[in-house]
Amino acid sequence: MFKKILIANRGEIALRIISACRELDIKTVAIYSEADRDALHVRYADEDVCVGPYPSAASYLNISAIVSAAEITEADAIHPGYGFLSENAYFAEILQDCHISLIGPSPEAMRKMGDKSLARRTVAAAGVPTVPGSPGPLESVDDALSFARKAGYPVILKASSGGGGRGMRIARDERELSGAYETARAEAEKAFGSSEVYLEKYLDAPRHIEFQIFGDLHGNIQHLGERECSIQRRHQKLIEEAPSPVLTPELRREMGAAAIAAAKAVHYTNAGTIEFLLDAQDRFYFMEMNTRLQVEHPVTEEVTGLDIVKEQITVAAGQPLSFAGKELAPRGHAIEFRVNAEDPVTFAPSPGKMTAFHPPAGIGVRVDTAAYQGYVIPPHYDSLIAKLIVNGRDRAEAISRARRALDFFVIEGIKTSIPMHRKILDDPDFVDGRLSTRFMERFAAAS
Ligand code: ADP
Repeated sequence: MFKKILIANRGEIALRIISACRELDIKTVAIYSEADRDALHVRYADEDVCVGPYPSAASYLNISAIVSAAEITEADAIHPGYGFLSENAYFAEILQDCHISLIGPSPEAMRKMGDKSLARRTVAAAGVPTVPGSPGPLESVDDALSFARKAGYPVILKASSGGGGRGMRIARDERELSGAYETARAEAEKAFGSSEVYLEKYLDAPRHIEFQIFGDLHGNIQHLGERECSIQRRHQKLIEEAPSPVLTPELRREMGAAAIAAAKAVHYTNAGTIEFLLDAQDRFYFMEMNTRLQVEHPVTEEVTGLDIVKEQITVAAGQPLSFAGKELAPRGHAIEFRVNAEDPVTFAPSPGKMTAFHPPAGIGVRVDTAAYQGYVIPPHYDSLIAKLIVNGRDRAEAISRARRALDFFVIEGIKTSIPMHRKILDDPDFVDGRLSTRFMERFAAAS
């Protein structure tokens, strides 16, 4: 087992990883930027190293500073969390060369799945259904027009190296597609360093259903059930739940088998997520794979009882899956709400000092956060300040707990997404589980 793990991240996920290490009796090293001197992850870790000034490129993405920090502190493994370097295959290779274990998949698997267009090809070859569209990157605007004609409008242009809900453009007809093609390429080049784009049919109001999968170094690959993440704004998730209100055991079995086939296609190890879109006719399509721990992993933990982060660590250390050969059927229902520091009207980030912070507690309520009263949220990083996770024996009980927990959640000094979540919980479509990725458009227009 590892003796000391360096956490190459910040915020709530850094604390989440420190918690898992504590329980496994593993020492921890926090890294931080100059803007994060007062952050809780720095206080809770056994050791800490400042890796640079506030811009992420100079600190949380600074590979040489992070590897040096691991070497100086004699950490034998690094957990990258989500975001930052978590899906960077080059970083994974450097760690291999330095004989530091990465708590995550192999660089090869990361590379194959990190290129979204290549990932589509790879899983399609393994028999997994993908959204109709271009089999590979687009060569020209004529190429785009010809695939769009086959798939049918509307279509969506996506950056092969895109992520985080960015790098996508919808085109409703030939004129829009001709106009969007070069812009999408230029945007992709600027944001992700590669102008490569591909095309998919843009499905009308699908559900986003993803499967948590786990592979060990002994060839076991299993899934831990699904999460429904259809409540999104600008292609970014706001609310996630497990199980999905619409998956029958048969569909779960079918999609679960496809998720495992996709993961097996790259000999996947450690925790990963296969994202699908599900249409109104129960047809599902692979969209992409995230080769890391997800923000929304807690809802799966709540319904399976498994500690996903501890499992990531033991699997990276060479142990077999603790649930190998067993089916983990979901028990009860869990929902996660992303509490962001943002203006509820404009959605602009709302950094600043939290003059009051009192998270809810009690039965069925979990709050993953690194915030505290008096904490000043730096403006440089993402706006997630807490994740509220509720569970109940069924979805209705989880919803009633969520209402109560959001009512009792006190944050003062900054604006947050709590009032928006509270309103969503009274929406009849949400309550009845009539969800789709277009939910927020309708909801925003109505409120
Ligand atoms: P990212 O890697 O940036 O997260 P994804 O490819 O996972 O991007 O897509 C994010 C979201 O965008 C999806 O959850 C869905 O809401 C929407 N989306 C992506 N592709 C399609 C599509 N072909 N049809 C309809 N919606 C889509």
